[in-house]
Amino acid sequence: MTLTATTTTPSTATRVRLYTPGPVEIPVRILRALSQVPPHHRTDVFRDTVRRVTEGLKRLHQTQGEIFLLSASGSGAMEAAVVNLLAPGDKALALVAGKFGERWQSLLKAYGVAHEVLAVEWGSSIDPSEVERRLDRDPAITTVYATHSETSTGALHDIQAMARITRARGKRLVVDAITSLGVHPLPQDEWGVDVVVCGSQKGLMVPPGLATVSLAPWAASAIDGPGLPRFYFDLRKARKSAPLGETSFTPPVSLVLALEEAIAMIEEEGLEAVHLRHERLARATRAGAQALGFKTFATHPAHSVTGLVPPDGVEASAVVKRLRDVHAMVVAGGQDHLKGKILRVGHMGRYDLSDIYAILGALEECVATFGRPARGAIEAARAAWESA
Ligand SMILES: *Cc1c(COP(=O)(O)O)cnc(C)c1O
Repeated sequence: MTLTATTTTPSTATRVRLYTPGPVEIPVRILRALSQVPPHHRTDVFRDTVRRVTEGLKRLHQTQGEIFLLSASGSGAMEAAVVNLLAPGDKALALVAGKFGERWQSLLKAYGVAHEVLAVEWGSSIDPSEVERRLDRDPAITTVYATHSETSTGALHDIQAMARITRARGKRLVVDAITSLGVHPLPQDEWGVDVVVCGSQKGLMVPPGLATVSLAPWAASAIDGPGLPRFYFDLRKARKSAPLGETSFTPPVSLVLALEEAIAMIEEEGLEAVHLRHERLARATRAGAQALGFKTFATHPAHSVTGLVPPDGVEASAVVKRLRDVHAMVVAGGQDHLKGKILRVGHMGRYDLSDIYAILGALEECVATFGRPARGAIEAARAAWESA
């Protein structure tokens, strides 16, 4: 990356730091796992790895059900959760509170599935009682498509409450947990979530290219129906290969090795400790940024990514650019109509309080440069970290 080409302020940075909402920074241990000579995928050594990774994922998802590994980014797992679960004539409900909720809607549209949309303003979260009303009003709806952590806004959704509603009515709940697995608790079986989809490059700290579908034990028959036209993402095929430690097609072998290392790292720290650390990181980020005059964009903020509205007179895109050019820190701007309005700071994966101090220090430098000097971010962040 060119650090200084577009700025008159010389960069003081010697390396790039990612605070992106995915792909996230890859820890050294995982880079080392990636550098191994990959075994051939039709060998016992790799079959054993696939079995261990699948068992590990079951522990992270807290399910006794089935996990399918797919060669795709997260959206491939989302597509699998549409084409395997729905049949022509079925009706779905898409919950839309941002870019990734819209992806469910686009997928349903692309496959010609009849669907209702429950949309709220970006930055808010869906009210579960509204889901209840929609389901009771339209009994034809069989499946609800939700997002746990909406990465485009930094908002969290109350999946536990939604699952109570869908389970009580015999409806299926499909949850996009792409920025929540390894960040937020989502005990699939205990909460009653039928299907959870995930991708490798966010909370799991692995490069992009590996996606998962997790099917709860009671939802096993969900993929047995006629479904929609499908081939690459046909989970019936995946189900036949899985007990053999095999995938239907050539898997991204190196990413599977990396994922095994990621699971080991999460389990060494402890899943609960990992969740708590992310909560503290998110609290520290919000408190520190607030001390600098930023506002949190989401009403119910997630612990994966923090959406921030800059203080009056400071442009979000100018902050994003200065962070990159001067500090070599990569954050994301807003998407679609939020472009130029917010910045999104990711803290998923192996981040610690010192990482948050670093980005807050850089944000302090930015607001001072743009004429809104403020102080106290570090103290506020530490207090928030300690309070959780
Ligand atoms: C990143 C992401 C996706 C999937 O994006 P891919 O680019 O296909 O990996 C889906 N949902 C959410 C909430 C995400 O953050």
